[in-house]
Amino acid sequence: MIIRKKFKFEGAHIVRNCSTRRCKKSIHGHLYVVEVFFSSNKLNNGYMVLDFGLTKKHIKNIIDSFDHAYSLWSGEEDEFKKSCFLKSS
Ligand SMILES: [Zn+2]
Repeated sequence: MIIRKKFKFEGAHIVRNCSTRRCKKSIHGHLYVVEVFFSSNKLNNGYMVLDFGLTKKHIKNIIDSFDHAYSLWSGEEDEFKKSCFLKSS
């Protein structure tokens, strides 16, 4: 048995290795949809594959950590990384 749950979040990034100048240079956002699948060969004591209440508690916390956040590319230059984390005075 397989069940699935969709989660959505809004995130921003720059795609440095993209073929278009707009994506390479501009911070822009997307609506991301993440679909998580849970499978089990048997049902739990509540006759469920998984209680969706538990997915909200555990999975949603992970998804929420990406919501309204900037995803930094691992190959980003140090100067840009530093500018992202500068504190305003
Ligand atoms: Zn993009």
